[in-house]
Amino acid sequence: MDKITITLDGHSGCGKSTLAKLIAQELDYIYVDTGAMYRAITYYYLSNGLLQNNLFIEGWESHLDSIVLSFEKHKNYNTNVVFLNGECVEHKIRTMQVSSLVSYVSKQAIIREKLVDFQRFIGKNSGVVMDGRDIGSVVFPNAEIKFWVTASARVRAQRRYEEIINSGLSVDFEDVLQNLKDRDFEDSNRKISPLKRPEDSFLVDSSNLTIQQTLNYSMDFITSYFENKN
Ligand code: C5P
Repeated sequence: MDKITITLDGHSGCGKSTLAKLIAQELDYIYVDTGAMYRAITYYYLSNGLLQNNLFIEGWESHLDSIVLSFEKHKNYNTNVVFLNGECVEHKIRTMQVSSLVSYVSKQAIIREKLVDFQRFIGKNSGVVMDGRDIGSVVFPNAEIKFWVTASARVRAQRRYEEIINSGLSVDFEDVLQNLKDRDFEDSNRKISPLKRPEDSFLVDSSNLTIQQTLNYSMDFITSYFENKN
């Protein structure tokens, strides 16, 4: 069976990463978390003192070439995770500090250019399930299957809250909810590649579904795609 490209886009915390990982496992495809790339770049600028008082310091652009990202296996995780200059940063990029600055970082044109190139490179041979905000609209507009994943804001905040707590970090639920709302607003209203549902995408609303039900629903759609193709 020919391998295809599957994209999942949607608001923060809508469950697209969980779903994308499971779809990739079912199909034996590569899973790519593009949000982790924007987070890793944010973490780099923060930890090198190049983001101060929530703004880039002058000359930040010249540091972009020093940032090398890769997606690799790590013994603590069951999918590929993001590495920043050879270091696994999967845990470090999930803090509220990174979450509160990532939308500011991700609206910079040169950062998007760098990451979109990298994402296209990773997906050039198909066989990928990629999730993000602009994957079906900008990165792979010709993807065979595009999902638009959604869930209510409270459900999304609750999931993100549990994810952070379970990873051993502490956080306040209302802060998580507010952060999701702020990022949704920023991501949907930025000038370059705003978060927008691709016209040819299939809607998956996971508000009232378990993870298994969401997976079954999405896999039914993928199966019917392959059946109709043959
Ligand atoms: O998916 P996640 O919530 O980890 O994404 C973090 C942030 O990265 C988003 O709020 C958005 O600002 C940015 N992002 C983006 N384009 C993508 C993926 C993520 O702008 N394709």
